[in-house]
Amino acid sequence: MATPSDLFCHQLIRRFGNHPAVDGISLDVPAGTFFSILGPSGCGKTTLLRLLAGFDRPDEGDIYIRGERMNRVPPNHRPVNMVFQHLALFPTMSVGDNIAYGLKRQRVPAARRRQRVEQVLEQVGLPGLSGRMPSELSGGQRQRVALARCLVLEPTLLLLDEPLGALDLKLREQMKVELKHLQKQFGTTFVYITHDQSEAMVMSDQVAVMKDGRFDQVAAPEELYREPATAFVAGFVGDNNRLRGQVVSVSGDRAQLRLTGGAIVEGRLAAPLEPGASADLYVRPESLVLSDGEVAEGLSRCRASVRTTLFDGANSRVETDIGGEPVFARLPQHGSAPSLSAGDSLQLAWEPDRARVFGAATP
Ligand code: ATP
Repeated sequence: MATPSDLFCHQLIRRFGNHPAVDGISLDVPAGTFFSILGPSGCGKTTLLRLLAGFDRPDEGDIYIRGERMNRVPPNHRPVNMVFQHLALFPTMSVGDNIAYGLKRQRVPAARRRQRVEQVLEQVGLPGLSGRMPSELSGGQRQRVALARCLVLEPTLLLLDEPLGALDLKLREQMKVELKHLQKQFGTTFVYITHDQSEAMVMSDQVAVMKDGRFDQVAAPEELYREPATAFVAGFVGDNNRLRGQVVSVSGDRAQLRLTGGAIVEGRLAAPLEPGASADLYVRPESLVLSDGEVAEGLSRCRASVRTTLFDGANSRVETDIGGEPVFARLPQHGSAPSLSAGDSLQLAWEPDRARVFGAATP
């Protein structure tokens, strides 16, 4: 028989009054996966995580961890640990005692505890710090102690509730890389919730994009970026341009749209649409080519006027206007961009397969 997944959920529902905060979630997370649940505030991430941890129970559906049904198992009997945004280290206990706390509750003998604490401190890159107090650590070190405290218990699942949210930007960037590295090193399955798409994209093997209590798409970061399944995912994950229009014709998986300003453009259909349907074309800033002359054969194109040009070192960001709609392009600094000033008129072009067309979202 195949090894059961570390986490398997079937049709989970949790309602508050009539409102389903979690509305039919199914998921399957193989061992050793960094799995992120990404969604805007209020979409139900914390509610879902609380169900997995056992702090709350689903109204419907099932939760299995390594093949065992967990619905009625209390939190302290689940093979699960949780890292919160506010790390909640015991301030009056040393680093070593903080980490040993769970082992002590499991009645692990003192000599073995000391050995495990030293071992895990080494693994998180803080060897020899067991005698320090939490107040004597940097933010990043405290973060690693909080992780060590959970990982020393060797849970099947580690649930992380926006653990980087309280850190400053620079530390957050650094911790993203460290967390991913630690997850791979320990091989523990991580379920990580966040509203920050860049965190989810950088760290995860799989990302579930959540909206209104449901998953819109579950995929590897590259696939989410390249093949968003819904308009919501296209707009939420990575920078994107949205051009509104109406389908004028369809051929194969391509659709031609008349934009609000009158231009006819082309993109790949994400789902079937009929001529006449209101639709949105999404095209990434880096997929756009700017030209003040000829445009290569086969590209979709339309006229745009330049609003502003901004340089950020590696790229230039060119803000343009197509029939009143803002569209921005990201061009490599040394690319073949024409020199531009506000008010210039030029051609914006893209490979039709790199633009996605969805039925129009309700505004
Ligand atoms: P955030 O990123 O802001 O933490 P979230 O995605 O974690 O948001 P949840 O906290 O899970 O979202 O909330 C989902 C929905 O359920 C919200 O509409 C929230 O108001 C509602 N909700 C959550 N907990 C309760 C509760 N105990 N009683 C009533 N409604 C609740």
